[in-house]
Amino acid sequence: MARYSIIMREDQLSISLASKLMDELSALGYLRDDENPEIVFTIGGDGTMLKAVHHYLHRLETVRFIGIHTGKLGFYTDFIPDEMDELISYLKSGTYTDYAFPLLKAKVCKGESCSVYHALNEFTIMNAVRTQHLDVYINAEWFESFQGTGLCISTPSGSSAYNKSLGGALVHPQIKSFQLTEIASINNNVYRTISSPMIFPCDTTLTLKARDFNEVILTIDHEHIELKGYDEIHFSISELQVYFRRFKEDNFWRRVQRAFL
Ligand code: NAD
Repeated sequence: MARYSIIMREDQLSISLASKLMDELSALGYLRDDENPEIVFTIGGDGTMLKAVHHYLHRLETVRFIGIHTGKLGFYTDFIPDEMDELISYLKSGTYTDYAFPLLKAKVCKGESCSVYHALNEFTIMNAVRTQHLDVYINAEWFESFQGTGLCISTPSGSSAYNKSLGGALVHPQIKSFQLTEIASINNNVYRTISSPMIFPCDTTLTLKARDFNEVILTIDHEHIELKGYDEIHFSISELQVYFRRFKEDNFWRRVQRAFL
């Protein structure tokens, strides 16, 4: 008997879809188990999927995610409300493919003491109050001194989110890599940055150090923490992966076309 959970946006459409889905799933013999689900259905948008992934971060190896989008199709969601019957038929058929998407890891350190965070879309480091200085190291070797608002470090699946708004490249999710994009860098006779998005292979560690991290925020997908008091941050591809259960043929470039063109 499959155990499932539902994470949804709290709007009327999502609530009524959840109720219909629960009826169908109980007829199929599925058991609701919010503690230890094997399948997590999300009803809402990409933001709802981000919340669900963070909620089950400790169980990613055993959980498979299926997204129902209450607007148009999203990047992490394969079904729209009109396709609920189709989804139920797919669940009955039992034919599917599980796709693994890499997560990014940030090790935020104060001396020897570090905290670890994971992101499905991206991390950003931002100072909205004053010009932020960041020294950028690639595999422990100094690369550049950044001055500006901040930096965005994104996964391939997150490349179509904030990264895209910053002029970053769209990266196919099967390319195990991560990307660095600038947020309003200062470039003049005194300060110079590379000014191009950079894509790193999966064994890279990117380190950011600052004279201080006062007033600096680290965003972690839809969440954020303050970096005051920390010394440095190390970014790399995480050993954790998120598994999305897909029933239809997946074509990343079609998804991009549908979303943006
Ligand atoms: P949300 O759910 O409203 O999401 C914000 C927008 O980002 C939505 O349009 C959503 O569909 C889109 N989105 C999220 N992930 C995506 C992806 N992988 N590919 C394409 N589009 C994607 O708000 P939230 O819950 O706060 O979501 C947090 C996300 O919002 C962040 O991870 C970040 O990527 C995005 N964001 C974007 C900007 C920007 O583009 N200027 C600014 C802040 C946050």
